[in-house]
Amino acid sequence: MKGKYVKVGKKYYSHKSVVRLIECHSDICQNPEKIIRKLAQEKLADAKDIAEAMGISWDGPPFNPKILASILGILCEKSDELTHSEDAELYPVGNGNMVIRYNPKKPKARQNFSIAHEIAHTLFPGYQDQYKARHWSGKFDPENEVEFLCDLGASEFIMPTPIFDMDVKRMGVSLKSLQELSRRYETSIEATSIRMITTSIESCAMMVLSHSYKPEELDKLEREKNQLKLFNGFHWEPPSKKLRVQYFFPTENFSAYIPKYKSIEDSCPIYKVSETRHPYQGPISINISNQHIKFYGEAIILPGTHKRGFGSNVLVFLYQR
Ligand SMILES: [Zn+2]
Repeated sequence: MKGKYVKVGKKYYSHKSVVRLIECHSDICQNPEKIIRKLAQEKLADAKDIAEAMGISWDGPPFNPKILASILGILCEKSDELTHSEDAELYPVGNGNMVIRYNPKKPKARQNFSIAHEIAHTLFPGYQDQYKARHWSGKFDPENEVEFLCDLGASEFIMPTPIFDMDVKRMGVSLKSLQELSRRYETSIEATSIRMITTSIESCAMMVLSHSYKPEELDKLEREKNQLKLFNGFHWEPPSKKLRVQYFFPTENFSAYIPKYKSIEDSCPIYKVSETRHPYQGPISINISNQHIKFYGEAIILPGTHKRGFGSNVLVFLYQR
């Protein structure tokens, strides 16, 4: 790997903003996920003090990130002319002041998350020098280091410690509590499920799957398609996509690891959920390195992801009980 990087567990961080974040906060720890959550908690504690002095109430759930932004002196503006994002953008407006422009046409939970995400960008050292746009909403892509950390920071702002943690402790991790917490905190199903995993003391994991190709398959398909274009009129039928893991997020004590792009067999209950759109609860067996690993699990389709002919994205909780 070229340039500076930091290795934490199985993950490498090489983005210069993340390496700088770790260097600046080495007193907290070396893990940027823990650092960003800690900084978000500290920012919230400061905001509470300022709010009290100003006579503003910052109560919840649900927690309104627009109120948080105003307490922190960040202006929030509706905009239907966002240039770099369909959700929200953070701009410097001189004298160290920042403004968040957001798309009011998006669903409420998504607006909330996008605004909280932009506030999380201000946790990075030197954020004033870099203008930031949220290019996609709540994708929680661990490979996109800065955006993933801002998603974690955003989760902490609108599902704050220790209130959210106490709710999870009381209710446990399950699809039923996920739905209840998502309503209570006005947060998306996906963002809420990840936040539940970050605080759970149970041995569990969540993952999101979608019908897709592996990157190397995509490259190969593109090459084949271009070659076939040379033969005019040749009918080209692409091979079918598989249900693959987009990301996997475990608690620290979860002993199995499921890699990105891992495909799921058609006979697995997770696959059936993507086709029938009916939730599933029961045993789930996943073939990892030629070994069938057994879990107890729950799966639902992710709301708003139904694609004609390709099934839906699936959200799964796995438990080692
Ligand atoms: Zn961002």
